[in-house]
Amino acid sequence: MSFENLNLHPAIVKAVLAAGYTSPTPIQQQAIPELIAGHDVMASAQTGTGKTAAFMLPALHRLATPAKNHGRGPRILVLTPTRELALQVSDAASKYGKFLPRINVVSILGGMPYPVQNKLLSQTVDVLVATPGRLIDHIERGRINFSRLEMLVLDEADRMLDMGFIQDVERIALSTPAERQTLLFSATMDSAIEKIAARLLKTPKRIQVATQHARLDHIEQRMHYVDDLMHKNRLLDHLLRDTAIKQAIVFTATKRDADSLADNLASQGHMAAAMHGDMTQRERTRTLTGLRQGRLKILVATDVAARGIDIADITHVINFDLPKFAEDYVHRIGRTGRAGASGIAVSFASGKDVAHLKRIERFTGNHFEFQVVPGMEPRTKPRFGRGDDKPGKRPSSAHKAKRSWPDNANPRTSSQNRKGGSDKGTEFTQPFARETRKRPFRDSKFNSSDRFARTEQSQ
Ligand code: AMP
Repeated sequence: MSFENLNLHPAIVKAVLAAGYTSPTPIQQQAIPELIAGHDVMASAQTGTGKTAAFMLPALHRLATPAKNHGRGPRILVLTPTRELALQVSDAASKYGKFLPRINVVSILGGMPYPVQNKLLSQTVDVLVATPGRLIDHIERGRINFSRLEMLVLDEADRMLDMGFIQDVERIALSTPAERQTLLFSATMDSAIEKIAARLLKTPKRIQVATQHARLDHIEQRMHYVDDLMHKNRLLDHLLRDTAIKQAIVFTATKRDADSLADNLASQGHMAAAMHGDMTQRERTRTLTGLRQGRLKILVATDVAARGIDIADITHVINFDLPKFAEDYVHRIGRTGRAGASGIAVSFASGKDVAHLKRIERFTGNHFEFQVVPGMEPRTKPRFGRGDDKPGKRPSSAHKAKRSWPDNANPRTSSQNRKGGSDKGTEFTQPFARETRKRPFRDSKFNSSDRFARTEQSQ
């Protein structure tokens, strides 16, 4: 199938071809005709599948015909969980709409000055991309008129649910015209998402593409067993000196750890910087621009901050700390292997990560063998019970898995505070089989709160 077969406005097809796309991705092939026909759509699609264009192209197609109602308010509203994703969606709207006459794309994000946003909202807006909290503020101040709104897109709805934004999303939806077209995109579908869809969508067409497994095929996943923090730091330094790395994202559990580790790496001579939710939008944008322009090589980030980053030169993702939620593992490693490239994901697991690792294995269907770097072998043997560490049946939903996590009682708090190579085949050759005995592993010497203090002492 080609883009010409999708009945999109010629100016949109021209922009897509100018972007270098030769054919629509599966989600685009399925979603675009339904959306052009005016149906509500509920799509289960990961980032990396081309989902942004799947909703943005038909949204822009609508804009090619004059608005039915008068006014200045947006005709298309896209809600996203994070500022980075919002900026990417805005960029996509501008890129795909560049041959259409006068499309005004505005992003309204938390952490940016109100006067600038007030000014943007006083103009005629065609596409508004926003994070829910800040948008609610503007709605309450009467700065947005939704009388022209034709399409509402909920992007990464599962993440908005995780982050505690869903009530805001529903309030926003209620302030838009009931006859709007509504789209819901989510990496996972479960009963919580179904309930939201039942409230906000009208007899939606359901679309599902590419399972987790298919999507990760182009990413080589490696797992290293680590003794302790010192061992992690040594391995990390070794991996980052690999000439095969163009750019890498290193994930840490907390914002504080991201700062400390970035400082450590910079002091070791790496071009590294941190990115996390405590930074202002200006700082985050500056860091991301540094990465895009190649002035930075290593980004040390937390889950929320790195979500949605789409940079082709990210060849490696390193999970310095394993993510607490299996779904985040998939999102993290999806930062490499963008737009058809291959990528390498390296993760560190210590004895206290048994539960995290099992969750990731179940969710992805992988079974990890530990690999070792010669000369940097762990002193301790991995203590993962063989009998119960096989990848089991994948849980029916990521949320179900998350809810069973003991300290996730408050999704808003827990997601905000969540804990968050070498050349192919050169050194990572020996798989390190897991021990068969079931014995709990205790790592009493190291805990995350004092780990960087400890590292500094040890260097
Ligand atoms: P997304 O899933 O929306 O985050 O998109 C992932 C990446 O795929 C982005 O870099 C897009 O520019 C790219 N992309 C989207 N649609 C296509 C297509 N039809 N052909 C090739 N690349 C695409």
